[in-house]
Amino acid sequence: MQDAPGGVAHGPATAARVPGASLARSGALGQDGKVTPEPDSASVDATPSEQPGPPSSELREEYARLAEEVRAHRIAYYQDAAPTISDAEFDTLFRRLEELEALHPELVSNDSPTQEVGGEVSSAFTPVDHLARMYSLEDVFSLDELKVWLDRACAGVEQRNPGAAIEWLTELKIDGLAVNLLYRNGELVRAATRGDGVTGEDITHNVLTIASIPRHLAGSGHPEEVEIRGEVFFPTKEFAQLNERMVAAGKAPFANPRNAAAGSLRQKDPAMTAERPLDMYVHGIGARTGLAAETQSQTYDLLKEWGLPTSPYYRVLADQGEVIDFIEHYGEHRHDLLHEIDGIVVKVDSFALQRALGHTSRVPRWSVAYKYPPEEVNTRLLDILVNVGRTGRVTPFGLMEPVKVAGSTVGMATLHNQEVVKAKGVMIGDIVVLRKAGDVIPEIVGPVMALRDPDRVREFVMPTECPSCGTALQPAKEGDVDIRCPNARSCPSQLRERVFHLAGRGAFDIEALGWEAAIALTQPAEPEVPPITTEADIFDLTPEKLADVRIERDKKVKGVVTGRELVPYFYSKGTAKKPSEPSATTRKLFTELEKAKAQPLWRVLVALSIRHVGPTASRALATAFGSMERIRSSSEEELANVDGVGPTIAAALEEWFAEDWHREIVDRWAAAGVRMEDEVDESTPRTLEGLTVVVTGSLERFNRDEAKEAIITRGGKAAGSVSKNTSYVVAGENAGTKLEKAEVLGVPVLDEEGFIALLEHGPVPVAEVDGGAADGDTSEKSEDTEVAEELDRGAGADLDSKAGVRT
Ligand SMILES: [Zn+2]
Repeated sequence: MQDAPGGVAHGPATAARVPGASLARSGALGQDGKVTPEPDSASVDATPSEQPGPPSSELREEYARLAEEVRAHRIAYYQDAAPTISDAEFDTLFRRLEELEALHPELVSNDSPTQEVGGEVSSAFTPVDHLARMYSLEDVFSLDELKVWLDRACAGVEQRNPGAAIEWLTELKIDGLAVNLLYRNGELVRAATRGDGVTGEDITHNVLTIASIPRHLAGSGHPEEVEIRGEVFFPTKEFAQLNERMVAAGKAPFANPRNAAAGSLRQKDPAMTAERPLDMYVHGIGARTGLAAETQSQTYDLLKEWGLPTSPYYRVLADQGEVIDFIEHYGEHRHDLLHEIDGIVVKVDSFALQRALGHTSRVPRWSVAYKYPPEEVNTRLLDILVNVGRTGRVTPFGLMEPVKVAGSTVGMATLHNQEVVKAKGVMIGDIVVLRKAGDVIPEIVGPVMALRDPDRVREFVMPTECPSCGTALQPAKEGDVDIRCPNARSCPSQLRERVFHLAGRGAFDIEALGWEAAIALTQPAEPEVPPITTEADIFDLTPEKLADVRIERDKKVKGVVTGRELVPYFYSKGTAKKPSEPSATTRKLFTELEKAKAQPLWRVLVALSIRHVGPTASRALATAFGSMERIRSSSEEELANVDGVGPTIAAALEEWFAEDWHREIVDRWAAAGVRMEDEVDESTPRTLEGLTVVVTGSLERFNRDEAKEAIITRGGKAAGSVSKNTSYVVAGENAGTKLEKAEVLGVPVLDEEGFIALLEHGPVPVAEVDGGAADGDTSEKSEDTEVAEELDRGAGADLDSKAGVRT
């Protein structure tokens, strides 16, 4: 038997978060995971499609009818060997079922014919009839629908048992495989799959390998005969490990834990099943003889006493509000559980009331399944486009028919690089599985092979030239998977991304400069020469320079898109009476640009889009050097020595400042009035001018940042590592290797008192400070005696050996 359904493979997990990835038209994922529209690809528009809401009742009926029909034909074909329709007719029915599921994935139930592993009822298992039919449940897809159902159940009870109070048993709808266990006098005699609800497959040998299912029931008073229903599941935690093993063994991984459970349970060899960590929760009974229980919940207590695994998650609730709370709670925590769930089941707890309500031909009237919005949906992959990011990285992304998944509408998802596209096996035009679990970034999982139409699909080819500027693309260095547009300076896409970035909240924080404004500034439809061709221009903008800027937008007549039109972006349209003038947002843009000039140095550094230089490194650099000039004139070694900087960032800084056009950005920003150094308190004497100080270990009166701050405000450099250029090392408690290195290099070492004296008086007057650490403990003193020896060897010869200085 096949172990996994073909076609759907797992891609690499994505860690980045995308807030509201919900653009209906073409767009792209930035390197920071932000979703932004993508003008390079604006020629390819997604076909606007209807937003699929919950499926209509007609559609649900058609689906249920079709599923029944397909099941019946399968049984006729495989079990009775007496097919009533041709294979082609069967294929048509099956395909329609798949189409409905593709359109409305929330319809897919565990027992859908499409969900059976290998796509067929296997002849490897003996068919067995259930003693009592295993009913499907009625599905509801919204709280409104649930409310209608609950009210109807209440009305039904009121009609038959006036005055009876209903208690609701609510439990998790496990995304697993329904199994029916038959016990006679406490002995497990049979286990079967659900099948079509009447006939299932005998999987007793495989079920016996599941540790939590008892062969003999515990306790006593077992009924003569009882069918116990439950759900076999693959624990979420073990699922990832299983797939790793599958891939390592060269097999296709399972698409989800449910398929893994089904695949594991329907192994021909029970030894194979035994290797899988399957588990089960029981949640109901079918046929019974001699069972003493009045309610569903009492039955669970009984089942638990008998040693059967019952779910720890069910509750008996008195009112509808609590039921809705339960649904909302697990909606938020559905990934914190031992197993996957796809909804909540609500049952009338009392058996008497269950009997009073009865069944329709298909479903019980006393139980309903509320289904959460699907986290995995199918949609068509319309195209694969590429986005050129801020650093020139070219990233393919899928443009899809917008679809609702896990509560938000998704129209695109990153595909990372061409290797990922290849690994996923997706082709343009495929119906693809799109997944978005919780807050996670949407991911194209893979194609639905069964729905691939060879005439409608084509392979994605990674472009060899930049779609934005036409420059030949190349890897940054040999062997890199990622390819880049090397035209950093004038590639319009890269400039647009940098402008968008420099206005961001972590940089200059220019609120009126959003994504569309970045496009209007760098790639407007008119005029031919954009208002800015380098970010050096940004602070030299004037309202006059923006007067003629037009961008292309949807033209709408009474809310309906009728085409595209050019509209002024920064100015009002202008009428005969009222001439065109800067819009309110444009006026705000200039106020904000003015305000941005006073931002602290670290934000200016972030705004420069230097590789690897994010907010953390920028803060470290600003703290250590205090001004752009000092950063620019520092050697790579000095930069690398700063805590939180290191060699990679130092090299990136060196490389960046080596470019003329980069230095021009800094110079022109400075000329426009951007503050290039952090304000220093003028009242603080610059006692440490020209000195580099390393603080190590913990001090009593300063934390690490305060110590650095104290050094920098006095004109010194606060470095992170000791080198021969270090002027002093300040060693607190538990100073480690830095202190040792200082000793090796002969760098003077100060204790906290010495540090305070240095801050106050600078290097020379230290000699005049008396006392200092002299009141320290004996170890301190014994170290002081070493100072003399060190000084004899000439290290720190310009220093006195008095208190506060030790080496
Ligand atoms: Zn380019």
